[in-house]
Amino acid sequence: QYIFLSGEFVKKEDAVVSVYDHGFLYGDGVFEGIRVYSGNVFRLDAHLKRLYESAHSIMLEIPYTFEEMTEIIVETVRKNELSSAYIRVVVSRGRGNLGLDPSTCSQPRVIVIAEPLALYPKEMYERGLKVGSVATRRNRPDVLSPQIKSLNYLNNILVKLEANQAGVDEALMLNDQGYVTEGSADNIFLVKNGVIYTPPVYLGALEGITRNAIIDLAKRNGYEVREQPFTRHDVYVADEVFLTGTAVEVIAVIDVDTRKIGNGKPGQITNHLLDEFRKLVTEDGVK
Ligand code: PLP
Repeated sequence: QYIFLSGEFVKKEDAVVSVYDHGFLYGDGVFEGIRVYSGNVFRLDAHLKRLYESAHSIMLEIPYTFEEMTEIIVETVRKNELSSAYIRVVVSRGRGNLGLDPSTCSQPRVIVIAEPLALYPKEMYERGLKVGSVATRRNRPDVLSPQIKSLNYLNNILVKLEANQAGVDEALMLNDQGYVTEGSADNIFLVKNGVIYTPPVYLGALEGITRNAIIDLAKRNGYEVREQPFTRHDVYVADEVFLTGTAVEVIAVIDVDTRKIGNGKPGQITNHLLDEFRKLVTEDGVK
């Protein structure tokens, strides 16, 4: 396996970074997770746009143009001879002195890893997930925007730890007002009386690329979609609940805080959207 590491392809064993890298020391950097389906990189432009916007927001200059990054990512997939893969792009502030100041870092580090896909087991999709709401809150968007996909994922990790301890598959993050925002690394949708709801991103959710693809697909298939705040109660009494994300695609939730959702099985609209999404991903992408 070859990893792109600041200008060259190196073997997996040799892909190491300095202990003085501020990405390691402080989580100073940005990242993306991207999927490749049958040789198509899904929504690469949208992922790169988000990467460049995240970097811009934290004043981190990616040392490649958008076109060069596109080529680097495609080349990493080709070099590893993968037709289905998960790609991780990381841009860190690079090596600097101890101390927070990014101005001591001379050159950002760019890393692209493409791995064969570790698919979630089929049973998880057939059974659906049990999720729980947790005490850790989504950071306030006016303090730190959730649109910055930074290397600082401690909030999300705390959420995941709480989920593990509660013995559930995934967690629901609330914002400081108690509105549901998203999962640890996925967006949330619910279905009530045939209408699909998802929280507006201003409540404190990442504007997921899968989320946006699902909103489009749902509308194209004649469903009404409303971006509207909702509470845990709304989730408990929903007919269907599902999560979306690059890693999970679309996955049903059948239990929230030990309340059964609908009839306790993945819902019809959820399954329909998962089918449509799987069709879309093989048609839509960069070869
Ligand atoms: N929310 C968070 C916090 C995430 O890290 C991710 C994953 O990227 C998502 C939601 C889902 O976004 P996407 O569909 O772009 O993968």
